[in-house]
Order: sequence, then C-alpha cells, then structure tokens
Amino acid sequence: MKLKEIYSQGKKPVISYEVFPPKDDADGEKLKNLFEELNKLMVFNPSLISVTYGAGGSNRNESIEIIRRIKQELKIPPMPHFTCVSTSTKNISEYLKTIESFEVKNILALRGDVPKEGNVCHDFKHADELVQYIKSNTDLSVAVAGYPEGHKECESFEKDLFYLKQKTGKGADVIYTQMFFNNEHYFSFVEKCSKIGITQPVIPGILPVSSYNQLLKMADMCKVEIPQKMKTVLEKYQEDKDYTKKYAIEYAAQQCSELLQNGVKGLHFYTLNKAYAVSEILKYL
Ligand code: FAD
Repeated sequence: MKLKEIYSQGKKPVISYEVFPPKDDADGEKLKNLFEELNKLMVFNPSLISVTYGAGGSNRNESIEIIRRIKQELKIPPMPHFTCVSTSTKNISEYLKTIESFEVKNILALRGDVPKEGNVCHDFKHADELVQYIKSNTDLSVAVAGYPEGHKECESFEKDLFYLKQKTGKGADVIYTQMFFNNEHYFSFVEKCSKIGITQPVIPGILPVSSYNQLLKMADMCKVEIPQKMKTVLEKYQEDKDYTKKYAIEYAAQQCSELLQNGVKGLHFYTLNKAYAVSEILKYL
C-alpha cells in the first residue's frame, strides 16, 4: 500500500516504526533479535516499518535484506530510507530497481549528512533533487524528512520551510519529523507548514530515550531542545536505570497522548530496534 492510501484510510492513529540494520553482526544474532522485537510489536497493528540507510550506503545489503523480510515475513509495507549525498545517479537507479523488484511501494528520500572528507559525488546535492528523480523514474510513493526545530545546518527556519515545500512540491506525499521533546515545536511547525501551503501529513517522530547520556548526545547531534524538567529529572536519576526507563516511557506516552488529542494522523516510533518502550507507550494510549 502506498503512503497516500495508508494515511487516508481513516485508521487512527497510523502506527509506524523505524528500525536500523544492526552493526557488527557477523553471526546474524542481532538480526534475529531485531525480528523477535518486531514480532512483539505486531500486536499494535503497524501500517509501515521504515529501515534506515547508512551514510553513503555503508549498510546497503543489510538494509535490503531487512526490507525483504519485513515484507515477506511480517507482511507489513516496508519503507526504505535512502540518502543521495555522495551517490552516483547510476547507483541510485540500481538501488531503486532493486527495491521495486521486491514490490516495495514507498521510500523516504533523504540527502543524508555530507561527509566531512572523502570522495563526495555531486550528482545530487539535496533531497528535493532525489524526490524529483524518484518521481520521474519509478512508481514509488515518496516521504521526506522535516525538522520542527529547524535542520541543524539551516540558514534560517523560514529557509528550511521553503526547502521543505520544494520537496513536497516535487512530489513527496508525507513528512516524517525528526524527534522532538517539546510538542510546542511540532504544533508550531505544522501551523507554519500549513501557512505556506504544505498540505501533506506531518507525522511526528517519537523517541523514547533510554538514558540521560543518550538524550544529551541525540539532542546535541540533532540540535533539539531538552525541556528543563525532563533534563533535571533524567540528570538526577541517571544512575537509576529502571527509573530512567520508566520516566522516559511516561514522558513519551504523554507527548503522544497530547499529539493524538490534537489530531495527528499517525505516530512514527524510533524503536532503536527494541520493543519494550514502544509497547508500553502504545499500551498506555
Ligand atoms: P535536505 O532536505 O536536502 O536538507 C538539508 C539542508 O539543506 C537543510 O538545512 C535545508 O534547509 C537545506 N536545503 C534543502 N534543500 C536545499 C536546496 N535545494 N538548496 C539549498 N539548501 C537546501 N540519515 C541517514 O544517513 N540515514 C537515514 O536513514 C536517515 N533517516 C532519517 C529519517 C528522518 C525521519 C529524519 C528526520 C532524518 C533522517 N536522517 C537519516 C538524517 C538526515 O539524513 C540528515 O538530517 C541530513 O543532514 C539532511 O537530510 P534531508 O533529507 O533532510 O536534507
């Protein structure tokens, strides 16, 4: 099923998960665990599972294998992420043919982080060019990334929104957001998108954090705000792993609850390949 249909079926909310190909998995144990975790999450009737893509295609084969298994074994539409920076048009074309041969219908089109050094190929500079290429050369439905607090490199928030509109204008059907811990950023972002004529669903990305250090690292990497209360509690109890987990789950569940009350069409969970936190949140909802 294509993204447009998934988000217009009237299913409320549309639940989707993000997973990533495990690293250092020569014996396949981590991949086995990933599918055990995903199986635990099937009870919540997900409509889509997205699979990240390593910068420059570092985990391309692993990513393709997970996509194939999600489709064939779990019978859930997979959505591969794909980054175009440093990738030649030929490679992109081959990748798209491969995923279409598995009857994949959707893709998350990204630029990816520009490598600081190395062999940078300039065939595609930004995600909007990739959206256009995919729409012109395949039958895939395309999603793109959105940043409620602005992308870490953006010249200005308005410029970032302008470029987001370019991505939707070139054919993106859905926007998945970067994680955020303050819903006000999401609500304001959706309002600003609407004001400039972006009509596509903006699906919030939810990350239940697992430790204080992880929170600091992620927030710094993505340049997102950590609300003071959350920071104070998680800093104070950072040695108490059980309490940290419980607090983070309750925090994310309350975020989701407020988002649902405000009519979001779906919730996209950054699972970090684990079922427990997401399951607890979905049970609470
Ligand atoms: P773009 O949309 O190209 O934007 C990048 C920057 O350039 C922004 O500052 C924007 O304002 C600016 N810009 C955009 N278009 C133009 C233009 N035409 N001219 C000039 N400036 C422009 N990374 C991975 O490596 N693998 C993944 O699987 C992955 N999955 C992600 C999933 C989600 C939901 C999100 C939110 C992010 C994900 N990322 C992933 C991270 C993403 O690759 C980085 O944030 C990257 O730096 C930007 O990618 P983009 O597609 O948003 O780029």
